[in-house]
Amino acid sequence: MLNITPNFAQERALNMLRRHWKTDNTFLVYSPTGSGKTGLAAFITDGFVSRGMRVMFCAPYQILINQTSARFIEYGLPGEEIGYVWADHPNYDPSLKIQIASADTLIRREFPDNIDLLIIDEAHLRKKRILQDIERLRASGVKVIGLSGTPFSPFLGHYYDRLIKPTTIGELIQRGDLSKYEFFAPSKPDLKGVKTSNSAKFGSDYNEAQIGEIMCGSTLVGDIVQNWLENGRDLPTIAFCVNVAHANFLTIQFNKAGVNAEVMTADTPVEERQLMIHRFENGATKIIVSVGVLVAGFDSDVRCIIYARPTKSEIRWLQSLGRGLRTAPGKESCLIFDHSGTVHRLGFPDSIEYDDLPGKSDGMEDTARRKSEERAEKLPHECPECHYMKPAGVYVCPKCGCKPLAGEDVDTDTGRKLKKIGGSKEPTKAEKQAWWSQIKFYQRQRSALGKKPVSDGWCANTFRERFGHWPNGLSDFPMDITPTVSNFIRHKFIAFAKGREKQQKQQQTQQGDILPEDCQTSQIVRPHRLSEQSRQSAISNSI
Ligand SMILES: [Zn+2]
Repeated sequence: MLNITPNFAQERALNMLRRHWKTDNTFLVYSPTGSGKTGLAAFITDGFVSRGMRVMFCAPYQILINQTSARFIEYGLPGEEIGYVWADHPNYDPSLKIQIASADTLIRREFPDNIDLLIIDEAHLRKKRILQDIERLRASGVKVIGLSGTPFSPFLGHYYDRLIKPTTIGELIQRGDLSKYEFFAPSKPDLKGVKTSNSAKFGSDYNEAQIGEIMCGSTLVGDIVQNWLENGRDLPTIAFCVNVAHANFLTIQFNKAGVNAEVMTADTPVEERQLMIHRFENGATKIIVSVGVLVAGFDSDVRCIIYARPTKSEIRWLQSLGRGLRTAPGKESCLIFDHSGTVHRLGFPDSIEYDDLPGKSDGMEDTARRKSEERAEKLPHECPECHYMKPAGVYVCPKCGCKPLAGEDVDTDTGRKLKKIGGSKEPTKAEKQAWWSQIKFYQRQRSALGKKPVSDGWCANTFRERFGHWPNGLSDFPMDITPTVSNFIRHKFIAFAKGREKQQKQQQTQQGDILPEDCQTSQIVRPHRLSEQSRQSAISNSI
């Protein structure tokens, strides 16, 4: 018996499996992040092991093997019955009832022939050897259960008899098991002419080299940094980039703006990754810039996502956004900044949902067409004023109150107006006072440090940029500056410097492409850590 009780989704999944257990051999459990997938695997395993049968659990990556067995033991499965299919491992013992393998080690080894159930985690990943095993086991009447939050890969219908769909992202958000989100699309790249290529992991998607080059454009990268400084509320953030060069470039730009950011890729060594996660969790690192969706073993409290990796893949899109949808104490919602145009194309995470496995239903083309029509109706619309993504059918922007004119289109590259994203509530007098006091503090601090002073007019203007009116009736009493206000001020300086740069450029004739050198490096940069002092000097030097 396990020492946990099934949650609603696990209970439903177990009942659905029981109902079809006799008629089918292979099952795909459609189980979004937050529904308790590993717990479900533990319940199923427990049922088998307590009847003296053998289970093999196959994790997608080696790094997840220890994590899975730790969770199994925590839930109450017998640790002494857990072995690893991994020859050098001290717990390698093929006679034990629970075998944990990674897809990669399994591929290199003979498959144990005494297994009564095979559970495959992240079953949407296409691993040829495992697919062969599924066919073999299915033919000999051995049960197979695949688990996936994104069972959209076209091959799945050929290997799995039945889809088990206990819950949806929408339901999990409604119940509060997943976090709510707020979507903004502050900028959008021009992807005209980008080719499509195929990958084993995500299916057909944009050509990586081409979008890498586009997303490395200095305007796009600058927009990301600027928008985050202005609207990111200093929240712990994950940024998704196209490739290492893109991630490096973005990281450097954040560092230059005085924000601690670090690059994490699939090649970052495990120990290094642990240190990085530690720095992220204690706030020393504010932004982890990630290449590739899966940063295996990463479960930290993420409150903001910067999405800068244009994609056509619903799998990639959902897996990335899933990083921000975990709940945490004090977390109301996850702030999502899409700089890739993806939310316009693929929509919100909870509107991506299927009732069949791909390649399964008979009138498939009909279904696909109906689905894509339904999807188009559900796509959100961008507010031309503040770039908030309004749910389908919402006309007046709930964030800024803007009523779009009929047929109004947003051109994010020209005349781009980023209005404050202050949340849907009107700011209170106390909030306004706090901002004003901090701006006055900043003014004082500058002169105390002997920097070029800022005028009273500058202060009043800064306030007006934030709230849309002058700071009338507020006290000048200074108050310690918070990162939110300090980021806003930095954003202001950068915008100013950018404007000046642009002016200068317009004066020169015939400019070529201005791809900065940083973007050409393909090695991972190790950004220097910024002390509070250098943060401050980054602020003052921006003038
Ligand atoms: Zn708006």
